[in-house]
Amino acid sequence: MTPPSLAACESLDQQDPLRSLRDLFQLPEGVIYLDGNSLGVLPKATPTRVAQAVTQEWGNDLIKSWNTAGWFQLPLKVGDKIARLIGANANEVVAADSTSINLYKVLSAAMSIAKADHPHKNIILSEDTNFPTDLYMAEALCKERGYRLKLVAADELLTALQPDVAVLMLTHVNYRTGAMFNMKALTDAAHAVGALSVWDLAHSAGAVLVDLNAAGADFAVGCGYKYLNGGPGAPAFVWVNPQHTDRFWQPLTGWWGHAAPFEFTPDYQPAKGITRYQCGTQPVLSLVALDTGLDAFLEVEKLGGMPALRKKSLALTGLFMDLVKTQLLEHGFGIATPNEDELRGSQVSLTRSDGAYAIVQALIARGVIGDFRAGDGKQQPDILRFGLTPLYVGYADVWHAVRNLKEVMATQEWQQSRFSKMQAVT
Ligand SMILES: *Cc1c(COP(=O)(O)O)cnc(C)c1O
Repeated sequence: MTPPSLAACESLDQQDPLRSLRDLFQLPEGVIYLDGNSLGVLPKATPTRVAQAVTQEWGNDLIKSWNTAGWFQLPLKVGDKIARLIGANANEVVAADSTSINLYKVLSAAMSIAKADHPHKNIILSEDTNFPTDLYMAEALCKERGYRLKLVAADELLTALQPDVAVLMLTHVNYRTGAMFNMKALTDAAHAVGALSVWDLAHSAGAVLVDLNAAGADFAVGCGYKYLNGGPGAPAFVWVNPQHTDRFWQPLTGWWGHAAPFEFTPDYQPAKGITRYQCGTQPVLSLVALDTGLDAFLEVEKLGGMPALRKKSLALTGLFMDLVKTQLLEHGFGIATPNEDELRGSQVSLTRSDGAYAIVQALIARGVIGDFRAGDGKQQPDILRFGLTPLYVGYADVWHAVRNLKEVMATQEWQQSRFSKMQAVT
């Protein structure tokens, strides 16, 4: 295979029907940003919109803005915009809190439902490379409620789905490898043994095609600051299958989830529907930023919608892997991301037995921003992770990223000691 040329990549950019979307984002000069799976890029509209919320809505209109600027309704309004990206309907999604906290809410609700319907079940099943915070939250809930968290390898999930499983809790697209589960097949398999499914869409919403209702999923959570471009610490989201929403309280029964918060009654009465998945007062400025970030997807809808975005994402990750296969295998890299389109998300992860952190740092110094995820020193290798956000990454960007990686290796630049100093956030 001959590697695709720069000219070929530039021509793909010229023909790209989604190319105009890039102009919605504030990409710094000289930077190729391949970390939108960790922190999405600033949309150009966000600073003005947030400044308006600060100076006008907060500064001038003060407390009136809860009503006049729609602050109180923002979690549901933002939720409706997210719903369109994940196969949910209006009023099924709420933007609130963090992914970790939302996972606690939905997992707890799922365990309550399981307890009522199948009291003998006592296992939460997940896979051992799931994102740690998901496993940590599940571990604590299992301790609290006398369940056991069972972790198996991804390819052993179907075998492990036994009658004792109450909840199958998975992240749809793996944060390390970019491998994607078949949501419908696994949800069907869970239902076949009477288990509920909880899906984390942190690396899926706005990145791949998700259809929660078609998959018959039970619960889902996801992240606002990755592919949704809501800004650092943006609120996360929750979706609950409407057949479950009103069955149980979620455990964080704050007043924003109450049926009538401004009646200030001493007893808790949950609101109907997804509203009950809110806890307390939500971060309005962050919600405003997330709301604005999501507007980019309204533009996507005019250009073919998520299927068009997914098509470009697959072309970008495919190109990245082709370039790696033709030029970088000789430098000791492996590819951890699945080759099959239906099995991968919107990132490419490379493996290397040594120097992965320093190589990523050397690339960042050249303006190519990816990130590093440590392995476990055993089966799991260190990972160099490159998120290819089709909203603002182009084909020539991918070509230049791989060229830079090749140069970092060929010149041994990465071996300079300044690149091996570990920072707190990798
Ligand atoms: C990014 C990510 C999170 C982040 O959780 P926070 O509560 O926002 O820190 C959780 N789960 C997965 C799978 C993630 O990728």
